[in-house]
Amino acid sequence: CGIVGAVSTRNIVPVLVQGLERLEYRGYDSCGVAVYGLGAQSGLRRARSTARVSELMEQVAAGDVQGHLGIAHTRWATHGAPVVHNAHPHFSHGTGADAESKPGRIALVHNGIIENHDELRAALKAKGYVFHSQTDTEVIAHLVDSLYDGDLFEAVKAAVLQLHGAYAIAVFCKDEPQRLIGARAGSPLILGVGKDGQEHFLASDAMALAGVTDQIVYLEEGDVVDLQLGKYWLFDKAHKAVAPAQRPVKTVV
Ligand code: GLU
Repeated sequence: CGIVGAVSTRNIVPVLVQGLERLEYRGYDSCGVAVYGLGAQSGLRRARSTARVSELMEQVAAGDVQGHLGIAHTRWATHGAPVVHNAHPHFSHGTGADAESKPGRIALVHNGIIENHDELRAALKAKGYVFHSQTDTEVIAHLVDSLYDGDLFEAVKAAVLQLHGAYAIAVFCKDEPQRLIGARAGSPLILGVGKDGQEHFLASDAMALAGVTDQIVYLEEGDVVDLQLGKYWLFDKAHKAVAPAQRPVKTVV
């Protein structure tokens, strides 16, 4: 239903959760946030709730969840009941003997519906992936993991070629803690350019970033974006690099 993502040098948890609050009016049945944690909190951290975003905010504060890279989501369930284990963000889970207990490296949120989720799930299970939800979304997290070879942008570009249906996604990998990837086809996603062009954001609606940035790039169908500190890259649906003039930064009011 709603997506917010950020890559920055400051703690972006407040931006993510406030962004979700700005998207609350659309309605949702659950919400969640995942970050690459800093310092003592390093690694993948996550909080999810079937209550309101204000409850998620309390969880995040109580758990001291902080990070400079993260994604957040309000869910309107289409596949899988509205329960905490189906709430986004979803993590990939490693394959092998410890797959059950060990979260993998990919964190992902998704708006939309993946129509070929059954076939993809069967193929990923055959490779040893362990599923922890009934969502179509978790399939994308494992698919990206299965295609990951040190470059998240390449893995997401390869993964979206296998997706049938509608999606806007925001993804990060704990092995690349200064990189946020987004892609859209059939569901909206915008890119926000933050202060001095140093920090970057993704959102399903520019309104989610009100007060954070008014510098917005409207992504087109099939776009995949690679957001880093101080720079970003765009690829179109033909997987060709997009010149900045083709996706101008607009000031929203
Ligand atoms: N199909 C996904 C799910 O049920 C995403 C729903 C949404 O757009 O919020 O989890």
